[in-house]
Amino acid sequence: MIKLVNVNKSFGDLHVLKDINLQVGEGEKLVIIGPSGSGKSTTVRCMNFLEEPTSGEVYINGVQLTHKNKTEIVRSSVAMVFQQFNLYPHKTVLENLTLAPIKLQKVPKAEAEELAYKYLDIVGLREKAKNYPATLSGGQQQRVAIARALCSRAKIILFDEPTSALDPETVQEVLDVMIRLVSEKNITMVVVTHEMGFARQVADRVIFMDDGRIIEEGTPEQLFDHPTEERTKAFLGKILR
Ligand code: ADP
Ligand code: MG
Repeated sequence: MIKLVNVNKSFGDLHVLKDINLQVGEGEKLVIIGPSGSGKSTTVRCMNFLEEPTSGEVYINGVQLTHKNKTEIVRSSVAMVFQQFNLYPHKTVLENLTLAPIKLQKVPKAEAEELAYKYLDIVGLREKAKNYPATLSGGQQQRVAIARALCSRAKIILFDEPTSALDPETVQEVLDVMIRLVSEKNITMVVVTHEMGFARQVADRVIFMDDGRIIEEGTPEQLFDHPTEERTKAFLGKILR
């Protein structure tokens, strides 16, 4: 489903990803943890070619991403939910959800709106369809962003710290929506997060990154309860209470 082979990424002289090899299976829920600056965002951004690797290969459903085919493949297969929700402020919730399907995927408007309402139901925001993003709380805006990802019909959804910009009291409502997605067996999720309770609950596998490398991986139990690497232990010691 997603495969990274010897992926390296440099920004100028800064070598931020170092030989990343990683495979994510269809329907798998993968959580990526690690300290700030360790390369988590760059790794997920390489999965949809928001960042193109300096060397190495990225495969989506067996097809190698290239500069030429990335737009087409990513548009149909990979959606992303960011820390900052990136909704269009001058468009309503409904317009935010239907814009890409109508413009890019040529879905008829009525069908796009039907799909939008279906996913608004799933994230619990049907009644906000005609609202503008600024009138919603951060948690609600992020739930709209998740609905938008679902409206793209992509079966791979990348989440980069989706709750990090939220007020503490709205974090759980977003996690709850994500937990609901986990039961969708055909949706592959890659989630960068510091929410260890969530990771423990949903992850099939957790990888720990430090200094541009994957230094440890396993089930949540293996990684959180029995970390073998000193750097993982030190990190978890800091964030697990
Ligand atoms: P994380 O998400 O784990 O905090 P990132 O992948 O965002 O880490 O960043 C890894 C390293 O790459 C950091 O040192 C960061 O400053 C650097 N970096 C990320 N994006 C860019 C960029 N566009 N230009 C230059 N340096 C970058
Ligand atoms: Mg990051």
